[in-house]
Amino acid sequence: MDKVLVVGAGFMGSGIAQVSAQAGYQVHLMDIQGAITDRALKEIRWSLEKLAAKSLLTEPVEEILVRISLEQDLSCASKMDWIIEAATEAEELKRSIFRELDRVSKPETPLATNTSSIPITRLAQNTRRPERVLGLHFFGPVPLMRLVEVIKGEKTSSEIFERGVAFAQSLGKTPVRVQRDIPGFVMNRIFSAALREAVDLVDQGIATPEDVDAGMRLGYGWNVGPFEIADNAGLDTCARVGQTMKALGAEHLAPSSNLMERMVSKGRLGRKAGKGFYRYSPEGRRLPWESKDNQ
Ligand code: NAD
Repeated sequence: MDKVLVVGAGFMGSGIAQVSAQAGYQVHLMDIQGAITDRALKEIRWSLEKLAAKSLLTEPVEEILVRISLEQDLSCASKMDWIIEAATEAEELKRSIFRELDRVSKPETPLATNTSSIPITRLAQNTRRPERVLGLHFFGPVPLMRLVEVIKGEKTSSEIFERGVAFAQSLGKTPVRVQRDIPGFVMNRIFSAALREAVDLVDQGIATPEDVDAGMRLGYGWNVGPFEIADNAGLDTCARVGQTMKALGAEHLAPSSNLMERMVSKGRLGRKAGKGFYRYSPEGRRLPWESKDNQ
């Protein structure tokens, strides 16, 4: 059975660990504190139980969970067949994780990153195997979203790129190939263009998040509006993506207003904090936006 290490047990890492375990991989899920991996395991159990209740699992929940081990360091990396980094969207942090992963894992192990915006090539530079570094960009919530962007860094070999495609397929996902490594890749560049305009319009008081989201759902057939997506993804992550876009010359894809940064500084991080563009009841039900809270 192939072994997968997921580095970072937040919103995305826990989802990637879950779908990997569902697909039969032996999964190691690592984060910097036991409390974080414990919470991730609880969330995975909750998600699996919901899927089981809808008869969407082919195995009992416990048999899937038994394939997930929790880690607080990278010492297991030497035994892994795949390593996927899904830590906080911060370039220096990811660079140091890649240096460490390169040191402790087998030289032939592919190193994938789930970064939303940082070019793969910049992370690959911190390893002695840039031909084995690639982007596997999942979408959240990972158990529900079927897309994975597979991204080729400047030096990623064609063999590893195609193995990335096959790995995504083995998880039941649909891969989309991104042949050239640019900030934000394809999907986040397109989404960022929409979010940029949406955030600027709301900050200027021209429309509310609810009206923008309703408009995009009803007028353009989006399943969820841009503010619903941003709240689910986390406004801290969205703000960091905007900052990376700006820093790497794609400022036309970052909001010109600093509304999201202001909200993050007030703890309005989105659904995970119970408040973002919307408020959320303890059961996770979305409540209306209150503009005065975001000024
Ligand atoms: P998150 O904040 O929920 O989780 C990040 C986790 O990384 C935290 O649990 C944190 O403790 C952990 N971490 C920090 N330093 C670490 C280290 N040295 N070693 C191991 N773990 C460490 O963030 P997220 O939303 O899960 O995003 C993770 C990555 O996925 C980011 O690169 C983000 O851009 C990308 N991404 C996010 C989304 C989304 O919808 N949120 C979608 C696609 C990609």
